[in-house]
Amino acid sequence: MNMKNFSPIYWSAPYQREVVAKIIRINKNEVKVDKMLFYPGGGGQLSDLGIIAYRQQEVKVVGIEKREDGNWLQIDPVGNSVLEEGVEVLLKLDWDRRYSFMKSHSSQHLISHVLKRLFDIETLKANFDDEKIDIEISRSLSETEILEVLQESNKSISEGAEVISIIVDEDEYKRKYRDIARGKISNENIVRLIQLGEGEGYDLTCCGGVHVNNLSEIKGIFLDTFKDISLKFFIDKHGIDRVNKQRILMINLEKVTAKSGGKLVEMLINKLNEGKITQEGNLRLLKMIFSEIASRSQEINGKKIVFLNLPEIDRQALQSAARELEKGFLIVVLGRNAILYFISTNEELSAKEINDIIIEKTGSKGGGNKGFAQVNVKNIEDPLELVKEVLTLSNY
Ligand SMILES: [Zn+2]
Repeated sequence: MNMKNFSPIYWSAPYQREVVAKIIRINKNEVKVDKMLFYPGGGGQLSDLGIIAYRQQEVKVVGIEKREDGNWLQIDPVGNSVLEEGVEVLLKLDWDRRYSFMKSHSSQHLISHVLKRLFDIETLKANFDDEKIDIEISRSLSETEILEVLQESNKSISEGAEVISIIVDEDEYKRKYRDIARGKISNENIVRLIQLGEGEGYDLTCCGGVHVNNLSEIKGIFLDTFKDISLKFFIDKHGIDRVNKQRILMINLEKVTAKSGGKLVEMLINKLNEGKITQEGNLRLLKMIFSEIASRSQEINGKKIVFLNLPEIDRQALQSAARELEKGFLIVVLGRNAILYFISTNEELSAKEINDIIIEKTGSKGGGNKGFAQVNVKNIEDPLELVKEVLTLSNY
């Protein structure tokens, strides 16, 4: 096939909504036309739908079959007897469906690119629907990592990176693109590549789908859910609406519980201290508390310090949750079995040094490093108060 004459409209002009085409063949409830306006589906994206207009009649296109001899438009039996071979008809896209696919498909390119660039994570599977994206990736992400991926993706959207379509023959692909493009090509002598942005570290993927011209059209990407290696997102107005609805739900929850803002964290702490939760549940609650750590912070000598009394929490849970802590804090936790923990995310505050002062003062046993230290405080009456005194009086 000569690549010069193979450029379906959905590649060369993805914003074109209609075209005059000739009916080449009719076979019961399917027709073949001489223009490729409708995307036939593939690569995780469903086919376009639309109508065939002829002599004031409209026949619905309800699907597309890709076969050896080309793409066959599946048509609604109602009213299709009006169509004849050889006549010129007007093909019209279901534009709302097409445009939302263009946006969700482009969003998936962007997310996969950011995952690869930030964490060297591969996208194993991808499906898109009306403003929804569903992907499977090569390893699970932490909450902080997911936030980073969303922040980075939304940054590209607000900066308005261009989406560029490149069509080359196989030789040129091998020469110029094979080593730098994501994805692999099927056995075709024409290769279509999609490039996101133009700056350093742009993304290049082999893809035959439909995309927007500029990432700004996506408006925004929002997290729906994540579990293990499966991630789900919403985009555009759908995503914005959902985020606002969830915030309303949260405000209602705050009203019902008569707790707002930082007091919700207090609620979580009380829940955790009830001691009726599984180990995994404890860790989850602890992570939620740590994600809002700033709301519990107090200043001592200009340093941000957090005191927590969490008798259900052990070292393992603390170390696991601590990975996702915001920078700039010293967190003092009185945990299970009267062990006092110091976690520092502040470069200027060494957990070990403060821990050593407590050891020296009390003769208790303990140890640790700059970021995490612990001491047994079984014989001390009010360990958190003691730490407060030490921090207030010393140079810390
Ligand atoms: Zn694509």
